[in-house]
Amino acid sequence: MQELTPMMQQYMEIKQKVKDCILFFRLGDFYEMFFDDAIVASKELEIALTARDCGNNEKAPMCGVPYHSAHSYIAKLIEKGYKVAICEQVEDPKLAKGVVKREITRIITPGTFIDENFSRSNNFICCVTEVENGFALTFVDISTGEMYACLVENDTQKLINEISKYTPNEILVSLSEPDIYEVLKRNYNTFIQRVNFIDIDKCYELINTHIQIATVDDTIALSVGNLLNYLVETQKISFNYIKKFEFYKIQNYLQIDFNTRRNLELTESIITRSKKNSLLGILDQAKTSMGSRLIKKWLERPLIDVVEINRRLDAVEELYNNFTLLVQIEELLDGIYDIERLSSKFAYKSINAKDLISLKKSIEVLPRLKELLSKFSSNLLKELCSNLDTLDDVYELIHSSIDENASVSLKEGGIIKEGYDEDVDRLRNISKNSKELLIQYEEKERNLTGIKNLKIGYNKVFGYYIEVTKSNYSLVPERYIRKQTLANAERYVTEELKKLEDEIVNAEQKLIDLEYQLFCEIRDRVESQIDRIQKTASCITIIDALCSFARVAIDNRYTKPAVYLGDRIFIKNGRHPVVEKMIGHSNFVPNDTELDSNQNRVLIITGPNMAGKSTYMRQVALIVIMAQMGCFVPAEEAQIGIVDKIFSRIGASDDISSGQSTFMVEMSEVANILKNATSKSLIIFDEVGRGTSTYDGLSIAWAVLEYVADKTRIGAKTLFATHYHELTELEDKIPGVKNYRVDVKEEGKNIIFLRKIVRGGCDSSYGIHVARLAGIPEEVLQRAEQILKKLEEADINRKEAKKLRREIKREFTEQIEFFSYKKDEIIEKIENIDILNITPIQALNILSELKHEIIKAKERQLL
Ligand code: ADP
Repeated sequence: MQELTPMMQQYMEIKQKVKDCILFFRLGDFYEMFFDDAIVASKELEIALTARDCGNNEKAPMCGVPYHSAHSYIAKLIEKGYKVAICEQVEDPKLAKGVVKREITRIITPGTFIDENFSRSNNFICCVTEVENGFALTFVDISTGEMYACLVENDTQKLINEISKYTPNEILVSLSEPDIYEVLKRNYNTFIQRVNFIDIDKCYELINTHIQIATVDDTIALSVGNLLNYLVETQKISFNYIKKFEFYKIQNYLQIDFNTRRNLELTESIITRSKKNSLLGILDQAKTSMGSRLIKKWLERPLIDVVEINRRLDAVEELYNNFTLLVQIEELLDGIYDIERLSSKFAYKSINAKDLISLKKSIEVLPRLKELLSKFSSNLLKELCSNLDTLDDVYELIHSSIDENASVSLKEGGIIKEGYDEDVDRLRNISKNSKELLIQYEEKERNLTGIKNLKIGYNKVFGYYIEVTKSNYSLVPERYIRKQTLANAERYVTEELKKLEDEIVNAEQKLIDLEYQLFCEIRDRVESQIDRIQKTASCITIIDALCSFARVAIDNRYTKPAVYLGDRIFIKNGRHPVVEKMIGHSNFVPNDTELDSNQNRVLIITGPNMAGKSTYMRQVALIVIMAQMGCFVPAEEAQIGIVDKIFSRIGASDDISSGQSTFMVEMSEVANILKNATSKSLIIFDEVGRGTSTYDGLSIAWAVLEYVADKTRIGAKTLFATHYHELTELEDKIPGVKNYRVDVKEEGKNIIFLRKIVRGGCDSSYGIHVARLAGIPEEVLQRAEQILKKLEEADINRKEAKKLRREIKREFTEQIEFFSYKKDEIIEKIENIDILNITPIQALNILSELKHEIIKAKERQLL
């Protein structure tokens, strides 16, 4: 049997190492795929499947994509859940002996895919390691160089809460931890990989070589190190551009669990799953992608540190109060590119001249930005101003060297600016003006030799030559080297002409090579300043986020909340930021809120469906979150005592995928709240107990309410919307409970929603009214009214029957009491008879009296 061709053998060897990937095998200007990879890829990418002779007398299925447009094909495969391995030619094919050397240069997965179009959001990859008492988590976005790590206690719900904040596109778990893998698999529709984890020493080694972060303990090192190991193995680059490492403690931030974040629609709307109509959609008016990402991070992790919150608030206030400055800063920010992302491009050496020009344009505005910032006096803005490095040297370097109109390709020249390098200028001059140079040379030689008709010509055999006619032979100088004799003329070359020819012929290539070499030097010089560039990027990011908050506050009439360590939440004329935006400011009815840990601990909110209960409760939670992010709030006035955790149990969301019933989901969410809430927490309960029968539901709601209200148990600030009107009785029974209702006005068969929260309970459900509003046919409504009436009547009849029974029972009891009283009386009478001293007649009379009384008593009992 014939052997495989050498190239196919090489392919086979390489493919062996990346069996689980689709291998992009570089062949000249194409990436080719073979065998099964080709079959899969041609289908997924909708490209032609061909075949190539692979030596075995057989043809291998093959398909390919041009290398310069490979990115979009890779993106498609990644999105469809494949891993892609890139195999490049690592030596110059011209210099290769035998088959060109090829190596895998990168493995691309969902978490390591770098979007060249620079999407605005992060792309996190997460590593979960099981440690003593819980989990260590590390998240990295290799495109921006951000890395975060934290510890989560041994509670899978908390693990999921934390991971979901980052919405990672890839999660790594150890091969030796199948349980975690299963848990994650159940909860995330993400690419989860089981990999071999390395030991702690190797972890520290990797940390020290790549990211040099300050000391971390073993648990964190294990997680960071394993993530790094995976990255190094798949990306084959150094990760020393990861400078933004942050180890944080979950309890140092306002904790909002996964359900609550989803219910409150913090980053995406439940229905559309888009950012629009979410709180983030309102708050993110950032000019740069960096600012957008930071606002999302601030929203996922609001603060609990009162000093830090107020630093942000003061900065936002200053920007808010200086509208002209704000507008000027916004204009500058508008011109700034995603420079955070450039750092990874440096690391992958994929920076092109256009990127450097973008960087230059971004740096260009920095002196002006610094000048504008210097006009502020709040601590945070002052600090940002002084930390803002205007990177003048980097600007100068790029400005002097890189052509503004440089193309993306580094192999086509036109990168280096005129005046930066003498050789570049000369070569460019040559390649552009070759004709001119030859004419100049001809002119020069004519003058030097005195040969008037001396001519420069070109042929394929000798290249450029000097032609002298017979009559002038005597004038030919010695330095002329004869090359060809014709009938009437001689052809010569000179050293100078050879050099000129060489330059003319090769100028273009030489120029391209030289420009590329210079570009690499410039790129490396800029890269050496990456620390400073990243620090500046951080400053810009924060400024952008603060400006966005100020802009949102101005556009939407928000006010600065007073955030303090007390425990009162007082909101005057608060609004729901998203609903207000949707229905318009003037259509939204603002409402007040008064919560504290004493008299106003638990607010029971009743009112018909659609009255606005959920909106109201969410609005309180959103205002607290916004305040703790350091953002202005939709209210006329707000005092926010810092909250440690926010919980919500809203609506009935069936979790079909996990096979749990609505009620089960509801109860486990309630259980989670009761387990984790503290007296500093804010809880929202919307219709707890709805998922089961009335009495069950009511009892559960009642008991839950008692439990959260009880200071010795939880004593959290709670908003409790319910349709169990019975619960309003608790106002008098449990201290700290207050009844509120969302007011409606009844007008005949219709109700008008007033959307106003007022004190007191509500004793009607208005269900049929709401059904009428919803457009249920009048016939059905009338029938419903009839049924309701009957039920109510039956209810009354039942009540009356009950009353009657009660009366009968009372009388019966009375009779019993009467009879037993009589019995005692009779016995006493008999006892008192002095038998020896009475006459037979007297005895007979007494007997007759007693008998009479017994008959009377018996008659009464029978009644
Ligand atoms: P409930 O929870 O009582 O059933 P929702 O809070 O879902 O009612 O409110 C129903 C609708 O009423 C919302 O979608 C919103 O459009 C409108 N709404 C709620 N609160 C207000 C308000 N304060 N001002 C104006 N419209 C409101």
